[in-house]
Amino acid sequence: MTPSDPSLRQRRITIPPFSGDLIEMRPGERLTIIDDEGGQVVDFFAESATEPDEILSSGVTIDCNESLRLNVGDTLYSDRYQPMFDLIEDTVGEHDLLHPCCRPEMYDHFYDNGANHPSCLQNLNTALGRDRGTITPVNLFMHTVIHPDLTISVEEPLSKAGDHVTLVARMHLRVALAACSVTESKCNSGRSTSVTAILDPVV
Ligand SMILES: [Zn+2]
Repeated sequence: MTPSDPSLRQRRITIPPFSGDLIEMRPGERLTIIDDEGGQVVDFFAESATEPDEILSSGVTIDCNESLRLNVGDTLYSDRYQPMFDLIEDTVGEHDLLHPCCRPEMYDHFYDNGANHPSCLQNLNTALGRDRGTITPVNLFMHTVIHPDLTISVEEPLSKAGDHVTLVARMHLRVALAACSVTESKCNSGRSTSVTAILDPVV
């Protein structure tokens, strides 16, 4: 039976390759983000719905969890050190908290093809209706290897088709998601593919 109250219904959206979308979350709601085909990075970012200057901070999340790795049970924090999400499920266990969003200048730097290239910076800004100069999101499924000499390399994601993470909102949030647009490297396994987001009401 489908609940008559719209706030109690599950909401499901598919984010096509090279694009982004917006989801509003109330405290206690759960968001499951699925890598539809496998090997795809999801740029995940959020701002407070009541104070848009308060944003998800991967740096503060590293600081508070005292780890470069996200583990089930960890909290994702805002730049004001406030809990934004709890990570309650993760079938992959490999995500990136270091890299900023891809943007035209990044494509120019590495591939000389930034003009008119879709990018996560633009897709997240468009989803939120903002014009932030830079965004360092939580890069779900992104497989960044830190080598013993502290150089880093971006490898193909470990996620397979249907792998997912589930997060619970700790505050009223506007959440932006993007299916990363990089096809020039191993970042998204050499292509861009869709992701699915499922919002479950408070139970
Ligand atoms: Zn990207």
